[in-house]
Amino acid sequence: MKENNLTFLGNDDGFGDKNNSAYLEINNELYLIDCGFTVFNEIKNKFDFNKYKNINVIITHLHNDHAGSLSQLILYLWFIYKKKTNVITSCVHMKEYLEITGTPSVAYEIQNNIDNLKFIKTEHTDYLDAYGFILNIEDKKILYTGDTRVLTPFLPYLDNLDELYIDVSKFGGAHLKIDDILDDLKQIKIKRIKIIPMHMDDKDYIEKLVKSL
Ligand SMILES: [Zn+2]
Ligand SMILES: [Zn+2]
Repeated sequence: MKENNLTFLGNDDGFGDKNNSAYLEINNELYLIDCGFTVFNEIKNKFDFNKYKNINVIITHLHNDHAGSLSQLILYLWFIYKKKTNVITSCVHMKEYLEITGTPSVAYEIQNNIDNLKFIKTEHTDYLDAYGFILNIEDKKILYTGDTRVLTPFLPYLDNLDELYIDVSKFGGAHLKIDDILDDLKQIKIKRIKIIPMHMDDKDYIEKLVKSL
């Protein structure tokens, strides 16, 4: 079976060892999805940043397990590689966040949208705006929920979808509780969409349920 389009650097919940984050490389460009506090150490020696025409970081929301090393990465790419980072996000406080963490504005560019990517606003916590997105990669279409406690904003986008990367948890709260959405997941499976769980608080429990759909 073909590998998934996204490769995960980590898929733990916010208190785990490896923050939920993934990447893909297309046409000499790196796309990093979220940049939590464990991610900088994870990627510093993993990629040869010189080889990329553009380095794009998609940020879904500003919780520390998603943006906690963004400023560090931007500084590193700027001072060590002389490269400007493209920050792709809809987060309303992004500019402010980068300013208060001392990130020189010359080192990054914030883009609210790019070709092939559409942000979908969702609900995650009452204290932050949060987004998932649809990404078209060549002939594939993927949906990435980011952290979310609701599935409804994403349901209109399931047509012709190849992969669904979905935040699911055993305990719920600010995240989709997997037991509550099993019927939805079955319907999604029937549409032949591949379901890839992420941000997991209990991997054994969740992966078993996803396999049994
Ligand atoms: Zn999170
Ligand atoms: Zn979060």
